[in-house]
Amino acid sequence: ADAASDSAIRMRSYDLSSTSSEQRLALLRRPVLNSAEMISKVKPIVDDVRTRGDAALLELTAKFDKAQLTSTVVFPPFSPESMQIDPTVREAIDVAYANIHKFHAAQIEQSGMVVETMPGVVCSRFSRPIARVGLYVPGGTAVLPSTALMLGIPAQVAGCKEIVLATPPRADGSISPEVMYVAHLVGATALVKAGGAQAVAAMAYGTQTVPKVDKLFGPGNQWVTAAKMLVQNDTDALVSIDMPAGPSEVLVVADETCNPAFVAADLLSQAEHGVDSQVVLVTVNLSDDAVSDIEAEVDAQARALPRVDIVRQSISKSIIVRTQSVEEAIAFSNEYAPEHLILHLRNAPAAVPMVENAGSVFVGPYSPESCGDYASGTNHTLPTNGYARQFSGVNTLSFQKHITSQEVTADGLRKLGPVVATLADCEGLDAHANAVRIRLRAL
Ligand code: NAD
Repeated sequence: ADAASDSAIRMRSYDLSSTSSEQRLALLRRPVLNSAEMISKVKPIVDDVRTRGDAALLELTAKFDKAQLTSTVVFPPFSPESMQIDPTVREAIDVAYANIHKFHAAQIEQSGMVVETMPGVVCSRFSRPIARVGLYVPGGTAVLPSTALMLGIPAQVAGCKEIVLATPPRADGSISPEVMYVAHLVGATALVKAGGAQAVAAMAYGTQTVPKVDKLFGPGNQWVTAAKMLVQNDTDALVSIDMPAGPSEVLVVADETCNPAFVAADLLSQAEHGVDSQVVLVTVNLSDDAVSDIEAEVDAQARALPRVDIVRQSISKSIIVRTQSVEEAIAFSNEYAPEHLILHLRNAPAAVPMVENAGSVFVGPYSPESCGDYASGTNHTLPTNGYARQFSGVNTLSFQKHITSQEVTADGLRKLGPVVATLADCEGLDAHANAVRIRLRAL
């Protein structure tokens, strides 16, 4: 073995009490993603699909996915042969589907909101599904039926009329039967065999066969992410996106009651995603020996993983931050705003009220991130890169929009009208004032 594979697989360690404010900022920073450069690279692909439609899509799929297709879109019902999967996997997908469905159905508003702001002035708000949604399920390097569940179920419970699911085909032109089965469960109305920027462009603009959508969802590599950012800024596409995306992250908080093997396993489950995955361990009052125990577990468990080469790179860029109290640890986490936050604490539930910024929280030793990634019921499409400060993860509301309405009675207008006319006069908008006064005179 060469020197690199002999060296210990370990994270860099910092003591928060002795870091300068610049160092602290550096610890909070994610690796820079050059989005301007990526956008200029995807632009020719997006333009090509936009102008030439299906012909471009088929050529790009042959080029990037090595699949020679004659048509890109499959409509339901999907053939039973295309959905043939191992019965154990099918049962696992069914349980995950039930849990995710239960949690996302509970997010539906049962009734609209109605408020009488003044006598005779009634304001209301009600939700409607976004009619046509496009779900990108990555497929370049792995089969991801879980992402199809996480995007398809909220679209289904929100009542979206068209659910278009795109995923790159395998070289033989087929889609993995697990993803096909989930597309069937969530009621996908079209399945697009295409990946990357070309799939995003096809759904944003529509082609001869790919239906155009109103909102795009889903994670993906930098080609997918850059294409989503590009099309959301094109008013001709008239499409929105779920959220900005970046490499996946976890922040684990651990005190002396933690099980070092559990903590290490949680750190590694994130580190195996990719070389740019972000892994942060924040310790609370841990002795040097306790930190060493975790480090030894990380090294030992990492060496046993098939994806050890990826893990070696992501762990070497990952950090341990040592703090003296739960308050200090959660304050650091709030500043970092992690996609996933795992709490290995004596009293983990007591720390949850202190959490201000995080995509999803995993509370206590028996709540690994993997449960939320697959089947507990929460969504795994979550804000990364510090965007948990202002974004929620994908949820049922992401597939709906709200409409407000007001109904003013004659009595209501007698009281409200003069207020509106005064404000319209103040802004110099005479026609606005007139729309009120013409009615007040008629009353
Ligand atoms: P992908 O489906 O995102 O990308 C595959 C496509 O990329 C190909 O179809 C191809 O069109 C395009 N592409 C690749 N190289 C290209 C090039 N040189 N020029 C133009 N286009 C090119 O699959 P992936 O690459 O395996 O990436 C999956 C990503 O999704 C990973 O980054 C993973 O971390 C992320 N992911 C995130 C979550 C989450 O919820 N956060 C879940 C699953 C996956």
